[in-house]
Amino acid sequence: MRNPTRQINIRGVAIGGDNPVAIQSMTNLSVTDVEGTLAQIQRCVQNGCDIMRVAVPNKTAVASFAELRKRTDVPLVADIHFDYRLAIAAVEAGADKIRINPGNMSLTQLDSVIDCAKANGVPIRIGVNGGSVNKQALAAHGSKAEAMYASLEQYVRYFESRNFTDIVLSVKSTDVRETVDTNRLIAALGYPIHLGVTEAGLLRQGLVKNSIGIGALLLDGIGDTIRVSLTSDPVDEVQAAKDMLVALKLRQGVTFVSCPKCGRCSIDLENAATQIYDYVRNMKCDVKIAVMGCEVNGPGECGDADLGMAGANGNVVFFRHGQRYKTVSAADAVELFKREIDKITNAD
Ligand code: SF4
Repeated sequence: MRNPTRQINIRGVAIGGDNPVAIQSMTNLSVTDVEGTLAQIQRCVQNGCDIMRVAVPNKTAVASFAELRKRTDVPLVADIHFDYRLAIAAVEAGADKIRINPGNMSLTQLDSVIDCAKANGVPIRIGVNGGSVNKQALAAHGSKAEAMYASLEQYVRYFESRNFTDIVLSVKSTDVRETVDTNRLIAALGYPIHLGVTEAGLLRQGLVKNSIGIGALLLDGIGDTIRVSLTSDPVDEVQAAKDMLVALKLRQGVTFVSCPKCGRCSIDLENAATQIYDYVRNMKCDVKIAVMGCEVNGPGECGDADLGMAGANGNVVFFRHGQRYKTVSAADAVELFKREIDKITNAD
């Protein structure tokens, strides 16, 4: 069951409540490279990203952010560290949400940010990181997860005392267990939660950490928006997030299966699977496609697939719902299979 949370809106993208889990990523160029950043945003959106975050580290960046805001309709989150004046400037420049760590500001400064966000109807993501938990807090609360929860709860109550509830919560740690434990605690606060394992590392390691951390929480019904943080192209983050949501049936998309291949395989399976996956990865329909190395296990293993292909003595057999219906040469198989995919996806 989904953890109940308030709904907030970020430029037409509703998060929280019963809304679909939104995918986020973050640009990794200087925002002053407006053209490059726009191109990166565009690629992310084409791959399924709903909301983009952009670092706004100084005044020059605010001007570029304003330019960016004018040139795209994608919801943009301004990521601010330390300087409350930048948070206010980013809101005035058209940010659809801002992300701050209230611990980096005095209460007077935080009040100015809250007042400005309220006046402009802009939600605030309150972020707490594992790295900001000090020894005293750790000693007082027993575990880092409980210390992070206590810190975040304190901020939430402060925002509520200022009558500002347009908030999204995030608690991040580089440690997967800590991330999961803390998010399970903050779920009780009832606000939308942004999930991610922070600084998760390079592509392979980062995918594993994020899949465990975000996946465990999504399976608990926790999480309203996700970012798969990777030291990689932001598009990799978006594709990974989408794969995760499709795998958990939280987003429409093609379920793709391919076998690990063994000595029975008689075709270039990896090449075929890669080409077919690239072809279907951005389709929004709920179909299952299987690419198998041989027909020994192929028909059985892809029996519940809408469409499957399996190697067969150098040829390739096509299956529809487990029933073989066509045999083609291996050389033509990928292109012909794409046409078969077109037929069933257009029919949907
Ligand atoms: S489908 Fe065939 S090739 Fe693939 S793993 Fe199973 S037995 Fe091996």
